[in-house]
Amino acid sequence: MTKKTGCIFDFDDTLVETTIYYDLAKEKFADKMFRLGFPVEELLEILNQFDISNVLKCGGFHKECFPKALVQTYEYYCQRYDITVCEATRKWMEDLGWWVFEQPTQIIEGATEVLRQLSTEMILFLATKGDSEIQTKRLKESRLDRFFHEIYIVSDKTHKEYTHIARKNGLDPAESWVIGNSMKGDINPGLRSGFNCIHVYHPNTWDFEEEEAIGEHFSVKSIREVPEIILSYGRKRLAASE
Ligand SMILES: [Mg+2]
Repeated sequence: MTKKTGCIFDFDDTLVETTIYYDLAKEKFADKMFRLGFPVEELLEILNQFDISNVLKCGGFHKECFPKALVQTYEYYCQRYDITVCEATRKWMEDLGWWVFEQPTQIIEGATEVLRQLSTEMILFLATKGDSEIQTKRLKESRLDRFFHEIYIVSDKTHKEYTHIARKNGLDPAESWVIGNSMKGDINPGLRSGFNCIHVYHPNTWDFEEEEAIGEHFSVKSIREVPEIILSYGRKRLAASE
């Protein structure tokens, strides 16, 4: 059986805006803490540590992690500066975390056109981490779900998940692509599984998703540049085989 050519897309900060809402919430949080009289120098770093530790503890990006991290950081500061926790403020912090998930799903400019174009050439897949309920809702809202042959909402994105998708769908990784904004979750595991990879730069990528690239890959500033790379690669391969 001939193996197929396909693309596996990341979702958050590749096709839809995600981190901008977390960053806005963090700004509001820092402002509130400043007005409560707490020093803000290390504040966001401590919040980040609680957030990452929650994600690692619950084995994935569950929606509770961020609201909980905001509350934990507030409580940590109260304890450190010997201040009684105010229930109303605690509730405000938690609600600020939930606010992130209530924001409308904003498609990154050009993403719909790119998926529409590529879906006429090859099969497309989506592989995303995140809370299943939230991601399903955002996929439906964005209407991007219609372009994908299969959608995988997974607790982690390592070479195992990419290899599984390739095997299950008869994809040839050497002729297929992984596209995303994260070195850690998209590019490096994609390279480890033998895919061609395109890193799409996003200024708001969470530092949890950063690491050094382990191999050669394409880098672009906009998702709009993706189809030309993939299609010209296909044309070159075809010309070489003729
Ligand atoms: Mg991403």
